[in-house]
Amino acid sequence: KVKTIAIYGKGGIGKSTTTSNITAALSTLGLKVMQIGCDPKSDSTTTLRGGGYIPTILDTLRDKKSVKSNEIIFDGFNGIYCVEAGGPAPGVGCAGRGIITSVELLKQLRVFDELDLDVVVYDVLGDVVCGGFAVPIREGIADHVFTVSSSDFMAIYAANNLFKGIQKYSNNGGALLGGVIANSVNTGYAKEIIDDFVTQTKTQVIEYVPRSVTVTQSELQGKTTIEAFPESEQAKVYRGLAQKIYDHTESKVPTPLNDKELHEWAFKWADTLLAMETGEVRSKAANI
Ligand code: ATP
Ligand code: MG
Repeated sequence: KVKTIAIYGKGGIGKSTTTSNITAALSTLGLKVMQIGCDPKSDSTTTLRGGGYIPTILDTLRDKKSVKSNEIIFDGFNGIYCVEAGGPAPGVGCAGRGIITSVELLKQLRVFDELDLDVVVYDVLGDVVCGGFAVPIREGIADHVFTVSSSDFMAIYAANNLFKGIQKYSNNGGALLGGVIANSVNTGYAKEIIDDFVTQTKTQVIEYVPRSVTVTQSELQGKTTIEAFPESEQAKVYRGLAQKIYDHTESKVPTPLNDKELHEWAFKWADTLLAMETGEVRSKAANI
């Protein structure tokens, strides 16, 4: 059976970069992988295709009444199947529409069965408030949900919102949470903040991905780090992450913080960071 993963996170947090490196790493293990970009910007799969964009499902459907698989599925690095759901024209309609339409169309064309896929990964921008973005969770399309977050408050706020969505649909066959991919976590205190958040919400960090210039260099070449710098430390991290996600079996219902708890949590960290700065307390990590 195909393993279906959905990767969520705040805008610009590193979803597409992380997702593309995960699918690239899985493809090098010999797995048949599809990546579905669910972002109206439709740039999820660009580093799998040398920096090039592909036509989106919504755009292709607008032009034609019926479409064939080869008009919406494109070949990427190492044979990865690349799909972009697309979105409405700016200012018109719901941005989540692309996901709903794409999931229906891919099912209708029976591509998941016919391509005999091992893994499908959805790259989803959105905080699940809008119905379309909730589809991979609500309908239980994803077997496991992961979220990319840094230690920045807005990223954690978005992750907490996602947890609320997962919790809400969990009684009705919705997808559950595999964990948090901690991105751009280089400093000790950043790790402590994210570790504390996952403890509070009864989930886990599945991998810490450092911020690295190797990622920037790869992106500028229009490639994933797995393709451009396969021997690098960063590629090793992505391969480890991909393996963990592929092997992951037990997802759970997280316990999101309510608004009051989240703000108290933030204030507590504000005090801690201030104290660290003035040298009153030393970060646990800094003592190592
Ligand atoms: P959007 O919400 O706009 O789709 P996104 O969450 O998909 O954004 P990306 O496009 O993957 O985010 O990443 C945003 C930028 O951050 C990119 O330029 C990417 O190269 C960079 N980036 C992401 N992760 C890392 C990292 N670990 N090290 C260095 N740069 C990174
Ligand atoms: Mg993206």
